[in-house]
Amino acid sequence: MGPGLLHDDLGTAWRKARPRPAGRHLDSAASSRQSHRALEAAAHHARHEAELGGYVAEAAAADLLQQGRSVIGGLAGMAAADVAFVGSAQSALVALLTGWRLPAGSRVACLPGEYAPNVAQFRAFGLTPEHLPVDAAGRADVEGVERLLAADPPSFVHLTQIPSHRGVLQPAAEVTALCRAAGVPLVIDAAQALGHADVDLGADVVYGTSRKWLAGPRGVGVLCVRPALAARLTPVLPGPEDEPPMRAFESGEAYVAGRIGLVIAVGEHVAAGPDRVRERLASIGRTTRELLDGVGGWRVVEPVDEPTASTTLRPPDGVDVVGVRSHLLTEHGIVVSAIGPGRAPGEMTGPVLRVSPHLDVELEDLEALAAAL
Ligand SMILES: *Cc1c(COP(=O)(O)O)cnc(C)c1O
Repeated sequence: MGPGLLHDDLGTAWRKARPRPAGRHLDSAASSRQSHRALEAAAHHARHEAELGGYVAEAAAADLLQQGRSVIGGLAGMAAADVAFVGSAQSALVALLTGWRLPAGSRVACLPGEYAPNVAQFRAFGLTPEHLPVDAAGRADVEGVERLLAADPPSFVHLTQIPSHRGVLQPAAEVTALCRAAGVPLVIDAAQALGHADVDLGADVVYGTSRKWLAGPRGVGVLCVRPALAARLTPVLPGPEDEPPMRAFESGEAYVAGRIGLVIAVGEHVAAGPDRVRERLASIGRTTRELLDGVGGWRVVEPVDEPTASTTLRPPDGVDVVGVRSHLLTEHGIVVSAIGPGRAPGEMTGPVLRVSPHLDVELEDLEALAAAL
């Protein structure tokens, strides 16, 4: 066994900061539990809308929202002006591709295990997805990527830093350096990486979602674009004249209360210390894999030491993953996800059960899952 769970103080503080879970919530890769403060800030704003009027309340919250853009940009190594609030990670990608207006047939290099809805968006925008070379775990092969960029550079590289269907951390820093050297723009899907891994790597675009590892509300996402690329984007409608260009990608009509909840959640993440958060999440992943591999015939897909808190399990022969997921919920109060091969058809050969605890998990929760399996 490894050294166990690190930084227990973070777990205690995270647990204390939010409502008691009804059962054992091991599903933050789907949607985390929000804190009291994030919930109250969103509720407070909704109340303000009823008291002041939606647009007056939004104007009153402008400074807070701008601080939030600044802190979110900071996570991605960018500035407040580079950040747009959007509705989800998917809508961030759509906003980016809408503004980019790449000619039909432009090639985008992505992982074979790319998130299927992202591939569907590439195709909807007339782009041609091509595969980056990977190893057996689905991790980008850095030397292969270097050769690909030298031989036949695509219009851009799209890298999903931590996939949805597998807790593997991609070598995003190395890929960023190669893309920079080759002059090929790099777009990082950080839906699973914001609040989970370091995304301050120098990519041209980082986009993600509020509700997963940042533990903000559902219905909010972020799109961060460096100024050099932002200058090449053409929004459908120009933004407000006195605002930075990325503001044109924010919808005028939006879940403003949710944006405010996210700002609070990001503040809590930064206050907890992103480095220590990552260390604890990595220790949670390692402990989860050590505890679960082989139990009841389930096999862990990731290397034990992969520095993420997402673990996926292949079922024993003949076991229905969707049925197990629902049995765990109804009979044991354990919340996990069943992921079908359609999530990443270029890589998955069958369904997996995904276990993705956040900072508050206790050994006892993982032991209960092992016993139930
Ligand atoms: C969840 C997820 C998305 C989509 O996020 P939404 O906010 O639901 O649009 C995109 N990419 C990955 C890797 C994800 O896990």
